[in-house]
Amino acid sequence: MLESVPEDAVVLAGRVFVALRKSGHVSSSRSRVFHAVTPYCRMSLCADEPGPGSHWAEPPGQQITCSACLRRLARLGNGRRAA
Ligand SMILES: [Zn+2]
Repeated sequence: MLESVPEDAVVLAGRVFVALRKSGHVSSSRSRVFHAVTPYCRMSLCADEPGPGSHWAEPPGQQITCSACLRRLARLGNGRRAA
């Protein structure tokens, strides 16, 4: 179903992730955390998601900065090998 993989996407263990942050009011740059989110999937790798009626902000970031997502990404990379 994936016709095109975003340029900034991370492909790991056969899964595609993009760096997305929650949209909405951001008061400081420190709260701009980019999560690893599978395209067309609402929940991020760390099981975070935008609030009701909200959505992930576009465009995707260059880099995933959420420490919980990064930990899970590392585990994906070290664990199961894609056949
Ligand atoms: Zn996250």
